[in-house]
Amino acid sequence: MLEVTNLSAGYGDIVAIRDFSFSVNAGEILTFIGANGAGKSTTLMAIMGLVKQNSGSIVLSGEDITDLPVEARIEHGIAIVPEGRRIFPDLTVRENLVVGGHSVSKHILEQGIETVFGYFGRLDERADQLAGSLSGGEQQMLAMGRALISQPKLLLVDELSLGLMPKIVDECYVVLRELNKNGMAIILVEQNTERALDVANNVCVLEAGNPGFSGSVAEISKDDTLLNTLLGH
Ligand code: ATP
Repeated sequence: MLEVTNLSAGYGDIVAIRDFSFSVNAGEILTFIGANGAGKSTTLMAIMGLVKQNSGSIVLSGEDITDLPVEARIEHGIAIVPEGRRIFPDLTVRENLVVGGHSVSKHILEQGIETVFGYFGRLDERADQLAGSLSGGEQQMLAMGRALISQPKLLLVDELSLGLMPKIVDECYVVLRELNKNGMAIILVEQNTERALDVANNVCVLEAGNPGFSGSVAEISKDDTLLNTLLGH
């Protein structure tokens, strides 16, 4: 579904990723693993069009989206759950979801909100509550919900578990697995490597902006040395 070839991207003169190539199919979960500053978030932001791409190509479902702006990428079926959630604290839960669906028709928006409330009962119960008064876990659910409103076929998820209680993280992962089971492709950046390897099909390792090992989780599981390195043992 997504084919990224020789992607390089960064910030002004800073090159954060170099010549990174990878692909993800419908119904697959790909995870990027690497130390702090390796370029994982930058790669997600470049796919979304939020960071300037210096070179390389991004093809989604056979269509070259390399030069498209963020809005057009959303319309093509990409959505991001950003690191730090970035919800609007002064808007209600429902209003945050409406913002996530500003580019879709009223019908899809209504349908999307119902679907999100189906996944996250806690958001349904708090539909008219200000997002800033939600717990950290509920805010993460809202960030996921907002990304789902546009009914993406590719979901980019950055640091889902950061700062959250394991029980809440479990609830979020149940939804991710469900979405994936229904065919959604997911690219996951997760500080908890064990959790990432538990759900992912494929892995790309990044080392200070340079691509390293790339392959299936099944391959990694057979290589104790690599597995222990990735898990930091
Ligand atoms: P972490 O796990 O710590 O979030 P990461 O692998 O996601 O790290 P990135 O956040 O993509 O790494 O950062 C890659 C490089 O780009 C780092 O050297 C970082 O300092 C730099 N960088 C990130 N954001 C910016 C920015 N807005 N301006 C300048 N440099 C940036």
